Amino acid sequence: MAANLYPQGMTLHSIGYAALKYPALPPELPIPLGNQLGVLQRIRIMAHVASQYLPALLEYQYSSAPHLHDPTSSQYWCSDAFTLINWLTSSPDAAVAVAKHPSLFPDTVDKLLDPNILTAMKACTRQGGASFEADLGSMLQFVSTLLLRKEHLPDTPHLHDLLPKLKAWKRKFGGLFIARVADRLADQIRSPVNADFAVVLSAQNENLVCGFVGCEEKRNLNACARCQMQRYCGQAHQKSDWGFHKKICGKGLVEE
Ligand SMILES: [Zn+2]
Ligand SMILES: [Zn+2]
Repeated sequence: MAANLYPQGMTLHSIGYAALKYPALPPELPIPLGNQLGVLQRIRIMAHVASQYLPALLEYQYSSAPHLHDPTSSQYWCSDAFTLINWLTSSPDAAVAVAKHPSLFPDTVDKLLDPNILTAMKACTRQGGASFEADLGSMLQFVSTLLLRKEHLPDTPHLHDLLPKLKAWKRKFGGLFIARVADRLADQIRSPVNADFAVVLSAQNENLVCGFVGCEEKRNLNACARCQMQRYCGQAHQKSDWGFHKKICGKGLVEE
């Protein structure tokens, strides 16, 4: 798998066929798609992208690509693949699949615990609109999102060691995204059973929607047996969508 499949400034078109289904989207649409799309459309696209790319993105994150193993590279801390995996975790099925990965969550916690993290991350060269603040915020957000899926996570013995750092970062980065997510994450680590987080989780789960464009059914959805990512309200819509979904279901990386 070649490193250049994940250029900086990835666009929706550069990561999958999912965009073909939405011809009205501009080809240069950058991620995240949060502001450009309605929630239902976004979740549907994420399920499509995840069904094709999630296993490949995880495999890439653990590949021998040199910049992924070099702490002087911003890709070591927060790679493009990691950013996409993080983005895909807004899809509940993708979040569960990522939580079940044996290494990604504990490895992210270990990186956050690195005593040199701030100096090393700030010193990295970044391209495009990337920034130290966004990268560190994304790493914290990732840990926070996956902690909502605690029952699927691998054992992460050092998780509580994050608390003093989160407290320090909340003070240091007051007013920034980092401080807000550090504060929330500290609450999650201290009291994993919390009514507020249960509300967030059920709101995320309510975002699941039938993968057939135009159908807004959200109940009694079954996942595609092959990818376990795209869901449908029944056989009729799964059959209608198969002409599209078969092009991406479990296909992994493709050269365009
Ligand atoms: Zn599928
Ligand atoms: Zn449907």
